[in-house]
Amino acid sequence: MKKIAMLNCLRANDVCTGASCFRAFHERRKSFEIYSGQEVEVAAFMRCNGCGTDPCSDKGIAEKVARLRQEKIEVVHVGACTKNKEGVRCGTIQKIMDMIEAEGIRIVDGTH
Ligand code: SF4
Repeated sequence: MKKIAMLNCLRANDVCTGASCFRAFHERRKSFEIYSGQEVEVAAFMRCNGCGTDPCSDKGIAEKVARLRQEKIEVVHVGACTKNKEGVRCGTIQKIMDMIEAEGIRIVDGTH
């Protein structure tokens, strides 16, 4: 079975349960429509380690990215909460996305 993960903004953690992401996944809507009719497992749900951290030298981020690989995650969906109101993605998250892609894991823009 295909395994996927979600990557979201730590600041969103203050107000976010992840419910909209999971509902969209279960209903195969929005970015998850690509899995329509397929058995897929959301095997990980991760966030950045906060504003002002550098993912490239952050051992925790390295550990999380390694775990994605160990879990054989094929795709990581990146939440809209990682973009500002103008639609510009946070540079910190972009670095994490680059690290994930360097592991051969596909990135998909968006969750719900
Ligand atoms: S670094 Fe970016 S994605 Fe992470 S908490 Fe700060 S704004 Fe959100």
